[in-house]
Amino acid sequence: MNKILITADRVITKSADQVINDGAVLVDGGLIAAVGTAAELETSVDASVTRLRCPGATAMPGLIDCHVHLAFDASADPVRAVTHADPAELVAAMADRAGRMLAAGVTTVRDLGDRDALTVKLRSSIDSGAAIGPRILAATAPLTSRGGHCGFLGGEVATDDDIRTQIARNAADGADLIKVMASGGALTPTGPRMWQSQFSPEQLRLIVEESARLGLEVAAHAHGTDTIANCVTAGVRTIEHCSWRTTEGISYDPEIARRIAEKDIAVCRCVSGDWRMFLEQLGAERAKALSETIIGMRKDGVRFIAGTDAGVPGAQFGDYVGMLEFFANLGFSHSEIIDMATTSSAHALGLADTGSLAPGMRADIIIIDGNPLTGLDSLRRIQHVFVAGMQVPRVASERGRQRTDAYEAHP
Ligand SMILES: [Zn+2]
Repeated sequence: MNKILITADRVITKSADQVINDGAVLVDGGLIAAVGTAAELETSVDASVTRLRCPGATAMPGLIDCHVHLAFDASADPVRAVTHADPAELVAAMADRAGRMLAAGVTTVRDLGDRDALTVKLRSSIDSGAAIGPRILAATAPLTSRGGHCGFLGGEVATDDDIRTQIARNAADGADLIKVMASGGALTPTGPRMWQSQFSPEQLRLIVEESARLGLEVAAHAHGTDTIANCVTAGVRTIEHCSWRTTEGISYDPEIARRIAEKDIAVCRCVSGDWRMFLEQLGAERAKALSETIIGMRKDGVRFIAGTDAGVPGAQFGDYVGMLEFFANLGFSHSEIIDMATTSSAHALGLADTGSLAPGMRADIIIIDGNPLTGLDSLRRIQHVFVAGMQVPRVASERGRQRTDAYEAHP
């Protein structure tokens, strides 16, 4: 890979508050070699180095989606599609979905549940250069109770021994982390309800300990307020959804939220691009209660990370900006939102080499038309994407822009 010097009207470096006007980034191989003003780097970098001049644009760290399901097809019935798919065809479809995410500027994805560890296969072909795609962190089969949420993915467990065996199996398959379905979920109406726990506090602790023994952290799907509390005590790394459900409705507990913040557990409050439809379906009262839990968590110091749950009904691959706009709609500042999509997500995923632009970091860079600090919509106008220093061909970018507007019931 050759060197390339990118110049843009502004470069957002570490956090969204750190902006270099008329900035430049020097990419050398897979890494960032220098960041500074265009004036500095234009003179210090040899004239033979390729220039990519982007007037009117912003260069910033690649986006991170902490919650996707590449094996799901975002149709009304992804469960059926994933269970019946031929593995080879499914991997090809997953590669296409990953490519759409990359074209939308998402250079890192964390997959939180697939079948037969197919995401690991895809990860290997991207790592080897056989396929172009985002960096993938894979959870493989989520641990769930017998008949529980997403059991069709192959991770059903009942006893402590089952738990140990499944974690060992996922680790052997090449998982980067362990996912546990700590509560029920809407995608599995025959299993426990969303507010019901699928595991005891002791089992959750065993899952965290056993994962840690193998060097893996735990992401916990948790809707119920009690389940959330148990996950905090058990010491999971991230809480997915975190929607504070009880039998009565929604019940936010600031005390638990403060413990989440203290332990630096990140909350991935998954929202798909069709969140307006989702809120409508919830009804005004519940939508308001749900929004208040997010505002409450923010006030209580919880660190949010970005996730779309792409692949579940209505959550299209590559529709990342819609999720960010949900947070803007709740009053989050643009700079807070950009940090959530980059720096905070990288931190929670344990990735010290992405999420910001600095010498020595992986060259995961996007160049967008406009300024996301004043308009998030500019993030839909992707001009160039670099993943580990490799420039993504324009063809893939064009494809990523074709968005479908099929709205389905939300999980
Ligand atoms: Zn999910």
